[in-house]
Amino acid sequence: MTAVCIDGKAFAAKVRAQVAQHVAKLQEEQGIKPGLAVVLVGEDPASAVYVASKGKMTVEVGMTSIEHKLSADTSEETLLSLIDQLNKDPEIHGILVQLPLPSHLNSELVINSIDPAKDVDGFHISNVGLLGTGQKSMVPCTPLGCLMMLRDHLGSLSGLHAVVVGRSNIVGKPMAQLLLGDSCTVTIVHSRTKDLPAMCRSADILVAAVGRPEMITGDYVKPGATVIDVGINRIERDGKKKLVGDVEFASAAAVAGAITPVPGGVGPMTIACLLANTLTACCRANGLPEPEGLTA
Ligand code: NDP
Repeated sequence: MTAVCIDGKAFAAKVRAQVAQHVAKLQEEQGIKPGLAVVLVGEDPASAVYVASKGKMTVEVGMTSIEHKLSADTSEETLLSLIDQLNKDPEIHGILVQLPLPSHLNSELVINSIDPAKDVDGFHISNVGLLGTGQKSMVPCTPLGCLMMLRDHLGSLSGLHAVVVGRSNIVGKPMAQLLLGDSCTVTIVHSRTKDLPAMCRSADILVAAVGRPEMITGDYVKPGATVIDVGINRIERDGKKKLVGDVEFASAAAVAGAITPVPGGVGPMTIACLLANTLTACCRANGLPEPEGLTA
């Protein structure tokens, strides 16, 4: 391996410590405590693990954590009424509805019923529009975490060619917008792209958000490039369960200049950025200056 391994776990711990410091100051000087409400519908085990972990870290940074666990057969009316209640609650500054929702619920309708100012996932259509037009918004946590790691590792991103593999609304598209905001030249590639390896090899920054285990090998990487692996894939290899990214770590690390591992890369940054967004939302709601370095 020649690449520097970007330690997302350590960086996320640093971000959380920064958030905790701001939260303590907020409480001491203003008597304000940021609050995050997480809504989980159904019993999806992976979602339950995420929600528990989010709750634990929210409390650790000194914020109020409220969890609403609803049964899988919850009606849209009940869920919308809960969101309405949370929208009006002055103690709650961030609302996150854990996705995916059971299929009888309209995710778009539910997400767009969250007050955009409390939409700490950044999925509300108003926040999508604000980000797309370069205005102040709530930024989706995973791409924000990737951007923070890139800035930390590379400094200025201006003029670099970034290739984003994947065009989903939650990762690929907002990632591309953020990179554009930092003056990268951005290419988005997807399943219909011709000669994907060659496109990827032109990247100074390669972000993989594909959802296909270890698809991006060293052949896709330009020597010295910075590779951000967003993928989280649970696979079984040699009879053992394993977590792997969308990048084949060993072959890519032999070519790249820097690379994020899975686990321990983008994943921990996502929760850290959720906490950072909740703090930002709280500061904005109270007309206070936003914490530096924790927003896009
Ligand atoms: P989606 O399935 O919504 O999107 C995947 C994208 O990859 C699509 O745009 C698709 O193209 C593209 N794609 C699929 N196959 C290929 C291929 N063979 N060649 C080129 N492009 C392809 O996934 P998400 O964006 O939601 O997630 C991506 C990955 O990131 C997943 O592994 C997910 O688990 C992980 N993730 C990790 C998070 C974290 O906290 N670390 C948070 C969110 C996601 P097309 O549009 O043409 O179909």
